[in-house]
Amino acid sequence: MAEFETYDREQAYQEIYSRFMQMEVPPCTQCGSLNTASVQVGVIGLTIRLAATCRKFKLIPNGPKTGNWFCNSCQKFFNIPDETDKRAAP
Ligand SMILES: [Zn+2]
Repeated sequence: MAEFETYDREQAYQEIYSRFMQMEVPPCTQCGSLNTASVQVGVIGLTIRLAATCRKFKLIPNGPKTGNWFCNSCQKFFNIPDETDKRAAP
């Protein structure tokens, strides 16, 4: 992410924002909602702003992640089976 240091902050924000908004998000495994977000770890100014404005961006201050995805409808973290380690599958 070093490239962002030379970017205008507003430009960096807009680029990441549009990237997340265009991203395919999986439906919630628990309620089926498509209002889900990619979970990111860490707190810096840019990500705080993204978390506040982009519904596909879920920020948690510390790892490890409870899940790779977060459902805005039922407020739960979840993983897509294809993404998880094979050992976690039944
Ligand atoms: Zn849900």
